[in-house]
Amino acid sequence: MLHEMVHALGGGMVSADGPQSAKRIDEALGERLSTIEECRADLLGLLFLELLSNRGLLPSDLIAAAAVTFVITSVQTLRFGAGDDYARGAAITLTDLIDRGGGLSVEVEGVLRGVRALAETVQDIATSGNYRAAGKLIDDCASVPPEIKPLMPRFEGMPSTWSFFSMLHPDLTDSCAIRATAALLE
Ligand SMILES: [Zn+2]
Repeated sequence: MLHEMVHALGGGMVSADGPQSAKRIDEALGERLSTIEECRADLLGLLFLELLSNRGLLPSDLIAAAAVTFVITSVQTLRFGAGDDYARGAAITLTDLIDRGGGLSVEVEGVLRGVRALAETVQDIATSGNYRAAGKLIDDCASVPPEIKPLMPRFEGMPSTWSFFSMLHPDLTDSCAIRATAALLE
């Protein structure tokens, strides 16, 4: 839900040629827009959740379950294949998390730190309409990381309702989800 809200809040105009350029983001980023936009919505969706949690509008321990769920669903999204914008966005996120963390981890603070850093990069690309930077990010990071390939079948069986369950019962799923996912990554 927060993913869709990020789309809705996305700016239509970019500052690529200065504030007066009146260039639309789709003109600036062209065929690279969809991948960047799906990646941006995933990242900022998690950070919105963190913000709401920090403000006391959601249970504070929900963010740990959400961070783990974020990694799980990112891996699951890769199954849509290299031609799919959701999968390419998820691959960018996972590649970046692996590069920063020295491997895939569900350590909550590490995930959040990585997501914050990448969100800044991706939001900058969207705000400025930087076609070249979008291309570089996609070229460098939008393929399935080799570390993840052997893990994908293990993640397939995970219930897609897990994310909803963990939102409703963060206290129950928190440590359980982290433990189960950490075991899968071993
Ligand atoms: Zn989307």
